[in-house]
Amino acid sequence: MKNEERKLTGIGVAPGIAIGPAFIIEQSGLPVPEYEVPEKQLDKELKRFEGAVIKVQRHISQLRQKAESLPAGAEDMLLLLDAYKGMLSGSRLVRGVEDIIQKQRINAEAAIQKQIAALKASFAAMDDAYLAARAEDVGEVGNRLIRSLLQQNYNPFAEAPEGCVILAEEITPADAALMNPERVAGFATVLGGAEGHAAIMARALGIPAISGVATLTHGVKPGDMVIIDGRQGEITIHPEAATLHYYKQELTKKRQEDKRLKGLRDVPAITADGTAISLQANMELPRDVDTALESGAKGIGLLRTEFMFMNRPDLPDEDEQYDVLRKLVHKLDGRPLTVRTLDVGGEKLATALGDTVGESVNPALGLRAIRLGLKQPKLLDAQLAAILRASMHGPVRILIPMVSSVGQMKQVRARLLQIERRLHKRGIRIKGLPPVGAMIEIPSAALIADALAKVCDFFSIGSNDLTQYTLAIDRGDERVADLYDPFHPAVLRLIQFTAAAGWRANIPVALCGEIAGDRRATGLLLGLGLRELSMSPLRLPAVKHEITQLTLARALDFAEKLMNQTDEKEIRALLASSLVPRGK
Ligand code: PEP
Ligand code: MG
Repeated sequence: MKNEERKLTGIGVAPGIAIGPAFIIEQSGLPVPEYEVPEKQLDKELKRFEGAVIKVQRHISQLRQKAESLPAGAEDMLLLLDAYKGMLSGSRLVRGVEDIIQKQRINAEAAIQKQIAALKASFAAMDDAYLAARAEDVGEVGNRLIRSLLQQNYNPFAEAPEGCVILAEEITPADAALMNPERVAGFATVLGGAEGHAAIMARALGIPAISGVATLTHGVKPGDMVIIDGRQGEITIHPEAATLHYYKQELTKKRQEDKRLKGLRDVPAITADGTAISLQANMELPRDVDTALESGAKGIGLLRTEFMFMNRPDLPDEDEQYDVLRKLVHKLDGRPLTVRTLDVGGEKLATALGDTVGESVNPALGLRAIRLGLKQPKLLDAQLAAILRASMHGPVRILIPMVSSVGQMKQVRARLLQIERRLHKRGIRIKGLPPVGAMIEIPSAALIADALAKVCDFFSIGSNDLTQYTLAIDRGDERVADLYDPFHPAVLRLIQFTAAAGWRANIPVALCGEIAGDRRATGLLLGLGLRELSMSPLRLPAVKHEITQLTLARALDFAEKLMNQTDEKEIRALLASSLVPRGK
């Protein structure tokens, strides 16, 4: 039977078009290690298992909420998810696993596998079609638990064929870091919003992606042809010849446009009336440095150091971090590198820190970023020492995430002085501390920007979190993604206030959130006084083009007009009525 073309919609999180065979990430097929657990450690192992049960329960609840908003036909999915949930509380599966861990003294993953096998065998012995189906469900739930326990060492894309489109329930930032853009053409997920870190990574890697597609994996088999349209947030499954033809043409147009923009690499970013703007790149992974340089970036305005901590069971020490940073500084060859200290917590988790940061009731408001660093000074000190040592090889700045008070910056400065002294004792002499700045991404920081300016050498506005915290909208939750609006007048006023405080104190103010790479916002940001923008390198040429076509005088007028607006719709309309004619 011929497969019918089907279109599903979600949220476009990374632009571009991907055409290729589906590669479906299943919750199964993991190689499971088995090892003995000493008697003293048994309680800890039981807790580890309990933690996995809670995580999987939470994940299934999220999927269920998502499925509730589906049109008719989703009842089966709801029933199935309810059945999974039932299997996770006080069930034979859970009790059996606990029993095996205690009696056989083995690790939780191996105990789960044994219990699944035992349950499947007992269902099979009853020779009943209904129970046979339940056996499958037990297997599915067991595999979810195993996957949750093994997360840190598992590359879900290891077997992905070249040019494939990945379909998955969820892709974490750590998963996205493992994606190779040369093999993966695009991806689509059920969960996740446009401003989550998996989405940001997809944009950095240039991988078209959509999220929030509820029935994504229903009725698709591995290898089926799919098309992702990251601009429209649409996925087409089993496309007809005419649809395929249309998208192939669009893909050719996009490649031509990319080539044209690449030609701007060596053109200076100067407005038509002569104001120079520093365009820099955000970096998620070391390999982004080449893309950054090819895009014509004048430096790295935001190095997200989380990649050093992801997909590994331990923490990198000072020397390892120094090595990575030193190589980067050399590669940048005199261009500045702004290193942000570790920003784990929230949705960005590092496995080795899981016990400390993983279980907040409200992780976005919990122990994360600099709060974690100041509570675990060893972690922060190792990173600061590595940055100080790297600064001896070229221009480096230190950027502190999630600052909410003057006291935090003072504490960081005091630590830096102490670390400098300690390095001196080890025979390492730092010639002058690098500039230290604060991310302005919490409303409290923006509102005290004038006071913070006295203890900071520069600011970098993080409009992604500033939007999340000002509007109280979880940036990674697709169900409220329609309310996430970085151009909300409240967010814009905080940006304006911060930029003005920076000007008055004569310290540089950069902006490194996603709107820096949105060329509709370029005129506004220049008009608000920003002279340094840091963005995904793939967006840089288009923003540069915008700058060369603008005059500062017009940008100032435009910003004034826009800041007088309080109606979000009017603001959107103004932003759409670009300052620069399109297509030039
Ligand atoms: C931001 O919050 O705007 C930002 C740049 O940091 P991140 O996206 O890494 O939280
Ligand atoms: Mg942030």
